[in-house]
Amino acid sequence: MKKKIAILGSTGSIGKSTIEIIKKDKKNFDVILLTTHKNLKEITKQVKLFKVNNIIITDKKSFDLFKSKNKNKNLNLFNDYNSLNKIIKKKLDYTMSAITGLAGLDPTIKLISKTKSIAIANKESIICAWNLIDKKLKENKTKFIPVDSEHFSIWSLIGKNKSDNIKKIHITASGGPFLNYKLHQFKQIKIKDALKHPNWVMGKKITIDSATMMNKVFEVIETNRLFRVDYKKISILTHDKSYLHAIVEFNFGLIKFLVHEADMKIPIFNSIYDSKKSINNLKNLSLNFINNLNLKKVDNRKFPVIKILKNYPKQNSLFDTVLVSLNDALVDLFLRNKISYLEIGKNLIKFCKMNEFQKYKKITPKSTDEIYDLSKYVSLKVQSKCI
Ligand code: NDP
Ligand code: MG
Repeated sequence: MKKKIAILGSTGSIGKSTIEIIKKDKKNFDVILLTTHKNLKEITKQVKLFKVNNIIITDKKSFDLFKSKNKNKNLNLFNDYNSLNKIIKKKLDYTMSAITGLAGLDPTIKLISKTKSIAIANKESIICAWNLIDKKLKENKTKFIPVDSEHFSIWSLIGKNKSDNIKKIHITASGGPFLNYKLHQFKQIKIKDALKHPNWVMGKKITIDSATMMNKVFEVIETNRLFRVDYKKISILTHDKSYLHAIVEFNFGLIKFLVHEADMKIPIFNSIYDSKKSINNLKNLSLNFINNLNLKKVDNRKFPVIKILKNYPKQNSLFDTVLVSLNDALVDLFLRNKISYLEIGKNLIKFCKMNEFQKYKKITPKSTDEIYDLSKYVSLKVQSKCI
């Protein structure tokens, strides 16, 4: 039987890696749904390759253009996620959630009841709405696999152990392009420097987050949510090769760590095949990397956003949405050349401390609408204060 699958954000970095994997095993997959925002060139290729019938294109102009170009083809085209009931009549086997930012939240929640397993790369959803996602997963008995490489590693290392058995979790950070910069050099950072990640090829937004280390702040919160581990037990270690992804210390004396090549296709592959299939042409264990892990504590002076984790709420609250949206808006302003690199972190720390935002630490998100409304408000606030 062919595996029925959906890829949310199929034209992005994670989406394309997922496509690359299943392309090699085409006969075993039936791609039921692909989504993009506006990358018509890529989605056209993917639709043709897998003979996909259901396509969601969220950008209105791109949707109209695609529709007019494909008038004579028998395709089900949609401009939003409201028609999922029509598209998916029988449960899918696997869904990859790889839309970037909070735009991924609504479709992720909607797909949970329509798929037997869901691999979630979209960390913003996990951070802002884990309580809603977890509830849906339980209600629908849907299997969940984290795709972020550190969390995939932790998840694999923990296996059937309980979180009570965890003494400490260390996640690694490549340190991005500025790990070895001297403090005085940070003032001169330009957009193109921040977009040059030494180890990973990723979407623009997460690449900037890796440069500022905000990506690790998010990943620590993600670790707290997914594995119910207190922040005191989570540490970040820099490791410039991105070969080791996580270390879990158990309170029964074992310390386990997981290494793999810096290639997101490895966690994605294992999320699809449940570690029951071999990958061709794998590289051997790199003794050079293993002997030079070079793990170090993070220098907070170079990456001040790490301080945000001090006194961060233990439970999922609307403050998570504030943090994600503040960062989103500031990264967007940086990429549009409206603020400098250093202003991303400075503003983030300043805005986080504002009473107007602090009050959300006490409020648990009840719906995706509430999250989206707050996110819009935070974005407008950032725009009005920064430009
Ligand atoms: P990309 O920017 O490369 O791709 C994002 C995908 O989402 C594209 O298909 C894009 O469409 C679509 N998209 C963008 N905006 C919207 C919108 N408003 N509505 C609907 N769809 C939209 O991102 P990545 O693949 O790098 O990352 C995806 C997610 O995975 C992120 O949450 C990221 O944090 C997480 N992640 C990524 C890793 C990586 O290695 N890339 C590693 C770990 C986690 P279009 O092509 O038209 O822009
Ligand atoms: Mg990661």
